[in-house]
Amino acid sequence: MVKKVIHVTKPWLPPLQDVLPALEDIWESRNLTNFGVYNARFCRQLEKQWGVEHVVTFANGTQALLAALSCLPAGEKGEVITTPFTFIATTNSIIWTGNRPVFVDINPRSYGLDVEAVEAAIGPKTVAILAVHCYGIPNDVAALQRLANKYDIPLLFDAAHGFGVELDGKSIFHFGDMSVASFHATKVLNTFEGGAVACHSAVTRDKLVNFSNFGFQNETTISSLGLNAKMSEFNAVIGLLQLDHISSALRGREAVAKRYRQQLSDIPGLHMPEVPTHTKINNAYFPIFIGADAKADRDSIYLYLREYGYMVRRYFYPLTCDFGITEVEATSIKYPVPVARRCADEVLCLPIYPDLELDHVDEIVRLLRGRLC
Ligand SMILES: *Cc1c(COP(=O)(O)O)cnc(C)c1O
Repeated sequence: MVKKVIHVTKPWLPPLQDVLPALEDIWESRNLTNFGVYNARFCRQLEKQWGVEHVVTFANGTQALLAALSCLPAGEKGEVITTPFTFIATTNSIIWTGNRPVFVDINPRSYGLDVEAVEAAIGPKTVAILAVHCYGIPNDVAALQRLANKYDIPLLFDAAHGFGVELDGKSIFHFGDMSVASFHATKVLNTFEGGAVACHSAVTRDKLVNFSNFGFQNETTISSLGLNAKMSEFNAVIGLLQLDHISSALRGREAVAKRYRQQLSDIPGLHMPEVPTHTKINNAYFPIFIGADAKADRDSIYLYLREYGYMVRRYFYPLTCDFGITEVEATSIKYPVPVARRCADEVLCLPIYPDLELDHVDEIVRLLRGRLC
């Protein structure tokens, strides 16, 4: 018997026959990349959906983060106040762009930045705040924006988990000076690989576009050090088709999350994030936290579920400040991060994707109950 394997996520795809006409068109035109018509259409659609003035697409979310950090209004390098409870790409991008990560603790309810800790870390060398909407749960964006205004510091969001999230009726990509999306295969909306930056200023938009295209301002002028980070037409086609199907994908995720939530609420020592108020969530992930008061520890549960073919993941363990990366060790500034550390030690992300069969959810719940009740 082939052992069943259920991964933490499974990429959602549009019907294959819908892709073919666009591919025929591309074969005909031979416009494969470099700001083509599909890319432009995808950008305009995202601008409309997110309610932002400008969206620039990228080859992936990491390139989008590099671009955002390279196109800060003042253009200087320095300290970027950030969270260690994130995917390593957030931290890597800070270091690749010649900045220094300043790690501060997170808020235990939003898993985003602790606003007081951010304020305490602001200094003369601070060039940006880079917050992460972990699991698609919004940061306290209003309080962070007040801080950013008070100290005149750009506020950036790594919203790689945020597609489909709304706060007070506005897309999460609306907030901050720049907000970064990832369209990686594992994300809520995927273009196989892809990313984007949403921003409100045409000056920033132009900088981002130039950055993605080697720094070219025109044929004979380089405006700044750039990369090749453009999104190809194929990826843009997939993005446009994914947008047509995103609401049913979000509904599928919601059904899975609801089933977990109903059945997991009374397990001693197992904690779930509170559903935030004024927020339309996207159920990008289904994190649970196995507390010190639980009958079994997180890692034993992790191994146990994996034995049964449920490939649960510890997002995010270890903290990015604890990976032992030489550059992180050499350059970063670390404030105490007890909440982030506890979350990293207790978290387990359960499988969730739009077409996950609810029987699997029920079996995972049974397995968890067997260990924890
Ligand atoms: C996925 C992810 C990224 C990187 O996106 P890619 O498209 O994979 O490069 C950045 N930050 C966070 C928090 C992520 O989860």
